[in-house]
Amino acid sequence: MTRFLVFILLLGGVLPVCSHEPFALITLRVRVHLMQSASNPRLQTTLAEKDVCAIFDEVNAIWAQAGIRFALESIGRLQALDVAPKRWFTKDRDWVKGAIPTNQFSGTAIDVCFVKDMGPNGFFYGEPVVVCEKPEFYKVAGGTDNIVARVTAHELGHVLFLQHRQERTNLMASAKNGVSLNPQEIRDARRRALEILGQTPQP
Ligand SMILES: [Zn+2]
Repeated sequence: MTRFLVFILLLGGVLPVCSHEPFALITLRVRVHLMQSASNPRLQTTLAEKDVCAIFDEVNAIWAQAGIRFALESIGRLQALDVAPKRWFTKDRDWVKGAIPTNQFSGTAIDVCFVKDMGPNGFFYGEPVVVCEKPEFYKVAGGTDNIVARVTAHELGHVLFLQHRQERTNLMASAKNGVSLNPQEIRDARRRALEILGQTPQP
């Protein structure tokens, strides 16, 4: 009996002892739209499929800290509506959103549209997420070099109900390249991600 107890104690010493359970991975689906427009060149992205894959590799590296992964359901080109911009609205988010048709949106995935140039780096106020391929930002310590991925990851944070938080290195800071999330943001984002999947979050 004593030998058995010693064996158990030794075994306990070599097994990793975790103070918390690792996150169960939550996977959300994403449909990417590469915006096309002959009449409004600002809307036409120059990004290709391989660029989108690299962007989402980094998005998933950023969101790994929360145990959330964004899986690409599909990547396709989407012709923008031929909406003539008013002079002062050519970089306005409402105008950009108004030029994006919704008939190819996914019923089961988060729709993400890439455009070449617009006023904000990205936006989300109801689908779709829209991301500009030429964001303007300030570098912070520990930030990512893939700034389009950072903007995408930030907007997906809004999809998960996260608000702006103006600490320089945070993912939810405006116009920076920081990527960190705090424990509360991680809990909130995971809760919302499970709701999106129709699963009841644990209390
Ligand atoms: Zn934001």
